[in-house]
Amino acid sequence: MLWTDEAEELLGAAPAFVREQIREKAELRARKEQRAEIDAGFIKSMQSGCGHPGQRYPDPQITADPIHEAFARKYGVHANMTGGNDLAGDAEKYFFQALEKTADPDAATMAYFHIPFCCTRCLFCGFYSETTEPGAIASYSESLAQDIILTGSKLRKTGRKLGAVYFGGGTPTDLKAEELELLIKTVRREFPLEPDCEITVEGRLFDFDDEKVKAVLNAGANRFSFGVQSFDTKIRRNMGRILSREDLVERLNRISALGDSYDAAVVIDLIYGLPGQGEKEWIESIDCGVNETGIHGLDLYQINLLPATPLVEKLEFLPPMADVKQQADLFMAGRQRMLEHGFDRLSVAHWGRDARERNRYNLWNKLNVDCVPMGAGAGGRWGGTRFFQQSDVCRFGKVISKGRKPLASAASEPSCAALISAAIGQIEQCRIDVEALERVAGKPLLNQLMPMLSLWVSAGLLKIGDPCRLTPAGEFWSVNLHYLMGRKLREICA
Ligand code: SF4
Repeated sequence: MLWTDEAEELLGAAPAFVREQIREKAELRARKEQRAEIDAGFIKSMQSGCGHPGQRYPDPQITADPIHEAFARKYGVHANMTGGNDLAGDAEKYFFQALEKTADPDAATMAYFHIPFCCTRCLFCGFYSETTEPGAIASYSESLAQDIILTGSKLRKTGRKLGAVYFGGGTPTDLKAEELELLIKTVRREFPLEPDCEITVEGRLFDFDDEKVKAVLNAGANRFSFGVQSFDTKIRRNMGRILSREDLVERLNRISALGDSYDAAVVIDLIYGLPGQGEKEWIESIDCGVNETGIHGLDLYQINLLPATPLVEKLEFLPPMADVKQQADLFMAGRQRMLEHGFDRLSVAHWGRDARERNRYNLWNKLNVDCVPMGAGAGGRWGGTRFFQQSDVCRFGKVISKGRKPLASAASEPSCAALISAAIGQIEQCRIDVEALERVAGKPLLNQLMPMLSLWVSAGLLKIGDPCRLTPAGEFWSVNLHYLMGRKLREICA
């Protein structure tokens, strides 16, 4: 695919570790739109609303209504981007060298397994599955099992044990029962795991029957994360989801009951701001999940209107969607309802009903814990270097069949990456503890952070205390605070 110089320049401005993914996403979309070349306008259209470089991130405004007016927009959805510099040469060599140099055998460690398939297409989803052909999925599962055996043999020598394993995608629950079982069992056999390792399988309830649930539980998974998005049948169906409210409740209760003897946690995601969803429908969905099902955790996310998704094309035919001010009201209403339901606040978006939901992988991901990338398109990090696996499923299979780990690129993180991750992890947990950040930095930070933090206090986003706590408005705008904090810490460390 031909890229104009300006498009290459824009791509070069993106953090090194996401460049490959942006390139592949752009080329995929360009092919779908039958474009002959990728120019700067095309790249900018992909970036709008996604918080990538090329946009500016203004400081908050001081206003009497911070939840609605502190910022004009959200700066993105994934803010744990610490940046990095591409490393030339063999990414596989860098990865195995990084494993050999593992410093602290007791450090927290996890693995992410990518399942790049989904048999359905929700309107709001940016994930595009190139194939759903059963033969391709079966052969991918076998290749992934080979990747587990190869990587496990190197991982065991590091002395590290994994505390969290996450099968994400795509939709891992679209795999057959025997494929899921093979992968989880191979992980448990080949990877060194902590006795209390959290093993999550992500997916949706449609087509996740008892046979698959039992296979996954018997193989050793102990956490399910289901994208429910809404219990309102009409709103769901408008988005391309298949099951009705009654089906969802039945499946969730059945899976919770099957998981009980394994102490397995069942966690669901709900989205606010969907077309046709007002406060009444939003709260009804939360109440349905809490009161009518045996879930152990509930994650509340804001709709992210991604360019190049079917939702953008179909908006004119759908009921209106909440604007950012209405989203703020929905956030506040949901937050209040979860407090009334007595759930524990695990992070800005994650709520737990009981100790079974630990939310370990999600939090560690924000904290930049070492993560083994597994499967086509997976990203990870080890000892200050980020790694990306080959995202083309066929090439992934070919490389692993030759006994090589299918790594496509590596990028060294800046020296301030640990500090930025620690700060983002704090914001994610609705607080800022400067003394703890100073311990990570090994130097005083307070004087340099004070002007920014004072502005956040004046803007109604932060409350002074020990530690400082985000206000509800600060929680709603937390992604913007991630960006601003990251920018400030990079300046301080430069
Ligand atoms: S089920 Fe999940 S991965 Fe599949 S289209 Fe819907 S949101 Fe995307």
